This record gives sequence, structure tokens and C-alpha cells, in this order.
Amino acid sequence: MAFSTLPVTSLKGVGPSLAEKLGKLGVSTTLDLLLHLPRRYQDRSRLVELGALTSEAECLVEGEIVAARITFGRQRSLLVTIQDETGFLNLRFFHFARNQQQSLQPGVRVRCFGQVRLGREGFEIVHPEYRIFSGAAPALEHALTPVYPTTKGLGQTRLRALVGQVLDQGLPDDDGLPYQSLQTLHQPPTDTTATDIAACQERLAIDELTAYYLVMRRRQALRAELGTRALPPAQQLGRRLLTNLGFQLTGAQRRVLKEVLEDLEKTEPMLRLLQGDVGSGKTVIAAFAAIRASEHQAQTALMAPTEILAEQHYLNFRDWLSPLGIEVVHLTGSQSAAARRESLEAIASGRALVAVGTHALFQQQVSFRTLALTIVDEQHRFGVHQRMALRAKGQLPHQLVMTATPIPRTLTMALYADMAVSVIDELPKGRQPIETAVLSDQRREDIFSRVAQLLEKGEQAYWVCPLIDDSEQLSAMSVETLSGLLNDGLPGAQIAMLHGRMPSAEKASVMARFKAGEIQLLLATTVVEVGVDVPNATLMVIENPERMGLSQLHQLRGRVGRGSVRSHCILLYGSPLSQAGKTRLQVMRDSQDGFYIAEKDLELRGPGDLLGTRQTGEQQFRIADLAVHAHLIPQVVTRGDQLLSNEPEVAARLLKIWAPEETTESAV
Ligand code: ADP
Ligand code: MG
Repeated sequence: MAFSTLPVTSLKGVGPSLAEKLGKLGVSTTLDLLLHLPRRYQDRSRLVELGALTSEAECLVEGEIVAARITFGRQRSLLVTIQDETGFLNLRFFHFARNQQQSLQPGVRVRCFGQVRLGREGFEIVHPEYRIFSGAAPALEHALTPVYPTTKGLGQTRLRALVGQVLDQGLPDDDGLPYQSLQTLHQPPTDTTATDIAACQERLAIDELTAYYLVMRRRQALRAELGTRALPPAQQLGRRLLTNLGFQLTGAQRRVLKEVLEDLEKTEPMLRLLQGDVGSGKTVIAAFAAIRASEHQAQTALMAPTEILAEQHYLNFRDWLSPLGIEVVHLTGSQSAAARRESLEAIASGRALVAVGTHALFQQQVSFRTLALTIVDEQHRFGVHQRMALRAKGQLPHQLVMTATPIPRTLTMALYADMAVSVIDELPKGRQPIETAVLSDQRREDIFSRVAQLLEKGEQAYWVCPLIDDSEQLSAMSVETLSGLLNDGLPGAQIAMLHGRMPSAEKASVMARFKAGEIQLLLATTVVEVGVDVPNATLMVIENPERMGLSQLHQLRGRVGRGSVRSHCILLYGSPLSQAGKTRLQVMRDSQDGFYIAEKDLELRGPGDLLGTRQTGEQQFRIADLAVHAHLIPQVVTRGDQLLSNEPEVAARLLKIWAPEETTESAV
């Protein structure tokens, strides 16, 4: 017998208002309710002796009131002392009603639950849940008490009762849901250990990740069945770019380019993830792919996450492609109406074979004549939805997705199972390692003379800080304050600011002047994080690096070390630095390998930062937590493959439970 999921309104006592509250928790069916797992547990199954209390523990205690008085500390409170044979405990109430005070008198027995802390007068519980009793003590709970994530107006007791109703229907273990684990997680017997709970969560996480993997594989299979326009070699335009470039492709670039071009020759629409560390040279691969499409008079859209980056790509592509007779246009939100109209017209008529822009590219007014290839740069900044909106502009265009965020291989195997993956694992020759120093920001002035020397030699620098204006909440460096410091410390230097609140045209002009060497030092927020490429910049100073993720720091640092001159990065932390902060910055000092840094980041902070929207926004797992469960992935992949080939019915049941919304044609 299979568990048939029903709307929550089928449960006793659930009317429209309760259903709405449940809806806020993402619970609209009885299955959702079963999968809405407790965040933690309370143990109300045993009494803790007052002599055995420990600070921070959440526990159930019992005793007789021996004193009750009002105290006047910083804040008036009612302090009630209880006693058992082994010791004392204070109950503290900052808010209390008169009748409450009257009932809590010496001689009365109470049972309380709450978190113990060490107060000035010994152990205490602030605002415990309590119950007065006389005669026989109230019974103890027979299970650990689950604490669910909840929302305003929906209490724990109510949630527990609703889950209880579903569990009481009697649950067979043979239809794809591991009921035994669910039962344990919702109503753990009193002897359940943390290890038992983790094992049950793991059991469910494996199912959930397997279902996700199956979804990805299915999308891949569906895509493979669809045909699109093949783009075999047609002219020799790529060869001409190769001779014009002025550098030789690295071995890794050549390998990856071959993978991309071979995909384009097929009628199966390409969906390829191109990973490569900052500075590994992904852009030029994109250019070769666009050239291949152009050889067929078919269009390419290249989408970048920021205007600065879109502008930079546009200039590169124009330099590379227009000598080959390929027209490149530019489309961003901040263009003048006339420029925009012209770009739109060139795209619609098919005259412009390459359009480079921001998310402005997938807005409704943009219509391509023959879009055959979409390229998305720094894809972790975009949701899959945006990528698909762009894709929808063509008839199943080939898709190339580029990212400098190194994703550990274990994660790509499952999370990107719908994509082919190429990795550029080699930097262009002649790159000097970036020397990284970690200094207290109290030594900021010490580095001014060094910066001045460097600028005098004709090199350029970035100085990055987290805030635009000073903030009362955050003690972190701002562009506002720093610009004063730098102007005093580096008299005569050409310094300009770059931050997200400046109008786009101004940002573009600052970037252009920095690129041209007219600006020597760019004082910026993290807007320069992604992709910006100025090979003559050889110094990156970062304020408050302790507030940033390692992957972000790696991206920022990757703005230098792009030429053949030795580059430096200085991490100016706000002191005092925590131990964890020290460890993190040490990783930056010791390594320049994006994959290693990403793995450390995963270890130290969890995967949210790393995976961007894939993990955080659009792909929230209900139960699996990659920080905890990433090690399960190889097993998930094996199981998923095995189900696909031998037990398709089991695979179908898993999908029905975990991905009911996954219809056949969506999201290929
Ligand atoms: P990313 O992979 O971070 O996007 P880019 O594509 O911006 O890197 O490349 C960084 C810089 O290296 C650019 O100036 C680019 O022209 C240059 N470059 C790319 N490939 C090579 C190569 N094989 N040899 C030398 N320079 C290269
Ligand atoms: Mg790039």
C-alpha cells in the first residue's frame, strides 16, 4: 500500500487559516508535513537533579519552592528558588503577573523546563516553562520532544499533533519513503542518541540527493533526444583569431576548446559547464565558440552578471571578432535609448551575430533572428531561471556556462549531473605567483610608501573595502573614509572610486580610464570582484578580509597577477582577529589554488557561498545539507545509476516523493 499524499486540509482541525500558516512553512500536503523535520529535540523524558545541572543545558527539573522575592538589579525581576535533595536552582521572571507571583510561594512544588545559565546567584532558568503540582508528580514524556521550524501563530504542540495524525495512519515501509526513519525523527524514543538521529537524517538525505540526481539525469536524457542546429566547422575564422591573438593557447585551453567545438558539431543541444580558475582564460574559449556559430550566420548571446564585466567582454569580443567581419553589439540596462534601439534592431535583423550584455539580454523586447548559442559567464551569479529565459530566445540553443568558482568534483557529480563539465586546470605561461601578506590594519600607513613606489614605476593598484559609507552597525572600512586616508597618504596619485551606487556610465568611464592607465589606484568595493581584467595592475589591497568568504577573496585577488610582472596582495584585517579568522586568512596566504581554497571554504563555512543560487536560492534541499552530507554523493551517484538501469519503478517512486513538480518537458 502506498502512502497517498493529501492536502493538509484533509487533516482533522485544519481549516483555511491553519493551512495558510502551514503554507508559509512550505507545507501544503501530508507528505510535506512528514518531510518537515524537527530542527532539534528537547529531553522531557527524564528529570535532571538540581545538583547535576550544567550551564547551557536544556533540561527538565523539579523541586519545592524555598524562597520567592523581587530583586532590583539592572532590571526588576521575580526570583524564585527551588530545591531538591541535591541542590538549588533559581527561576527568574522579568515579566510576571500578580497572580503568577502569588502562586509561586514557598512550599509549592513545580516542574520546569528551560535552558540553564550561570547567573550572579548561581544556576538559573529565565522564564522557564513551568507547571505547579501537588500530590503525585506529572508523568514524564515517553519520547524526546521535537522542536520544529515554525511560523508566527503556529505552536509546537499544534505541529506535533498534526504530524502525529499523519504518522498514526500507519505507515508501510515499501513505497519509497523510509517511514522508520521518519517515525524516529518525529517521535524519537527516549533512548535515541544524536548518532541515531544523524543516521536517520542521512537515510533521508540519500533519498533526496538521489532523487535530485535522477532529475538531473532525466533532464540530460530529455535534452539528448531533442535536436537542434549542428554547427560543424564551416569557414576558417577561428584559425584567423588564433593568429591574431598574440598569445598561444595553453594546453588546457586547447583541450577544452576541442570539447566545446565537438559538442557544437552535434544536433544534441550542448549544455556544458566550463570551470577555470580566475585568469585561466575562459573568455577566449567563449569567443571561439561564438565564431563557430557566426560561421553559420547564427547568433550568439553572451551574458555577464555585471555591467562592468559586460562592457569588458564587449570590448574584447569586438577587438577579436570585428576584424573577422563579425558584428558585435552591446546591450545593458544603462545604455541611452538610441544606442539600445540600434542594438535591438541589429539583433532582431540578424545583422549582429554576437550580442554581449547583462540580464538586459533576456528581456522581452529582445528578439534574436537565429540564436544558436548562449554563453553565460560567472554562472553562479545567475539562477537557472535566468539562464532558461535566455535560452527561450532561441530554438534550443547550445549553452555554455562559465564559472571561476571551483566546485569540488564530488559536488559537480551530482549537482551538475545534467551538464557536461570541462575544466581549464592550467594558467597561461609566464604568470607570476601572487605574493600574499596578512597584516593588521593598524599597519595601513606603513604600506603607503610601498604603494607610492609601485605607482611611480607605472604599475597600478586596487584598494578594496567592504562598505561605501561608514556604518554605525559595522566596524568595517568604507570608501568614504578610505578615500580621505589615501588622498592624504598618497599625495599626487591619480585615485578614483568605483562602487555599486555610481551611475553605470560613470562606472564604465572609470573602468576605461583605469584600463588605459590614466587612473593609478582604484578605490573600490567588491564590484571589481568578478572577471575584471587589467594586466598592468599588480597590487591588490583588501580591507576587512575577515568579513569576506574565501572564494570571494580568491576572486578579488585574481584581479592581479594577470601580467608578467610580479604581483602582490595585502590582506589588511581589522584587529583583533578571531582564531577562525586567522585560519581562514592563512589559507589565502598559503594557497593560490582555487580548488583547494574552495574545498577549505566548504570545510570552514559550508557550501552556501560556493554554490551560490544552485544551493541557496533556487535549489534548497529539504533535508540534505551539503556541509554535512557531501560525502554521500559518490554513493548517491552509484545508487542513482543502478536504479535507472535496473529498478526504474523505484526511481519513479523517489521522483514522485521528492520532485513531484518535475514534469517531463520543464527545464531541459
Ligand atoms: P578568466 O578565466 O578569469 O575569465 P580571462 O579570460 O579574463 O580569464 O583571461 C585573463 C587574461 O589572460 C586576459 O587578459 C586574456 O586575454 C589572457 N589570456 C587568456 N589566455 C591566455 C594565454 N593562453 N596566454 C596568455 N594570456 C592569455
Ligand atoms: Mg572571466
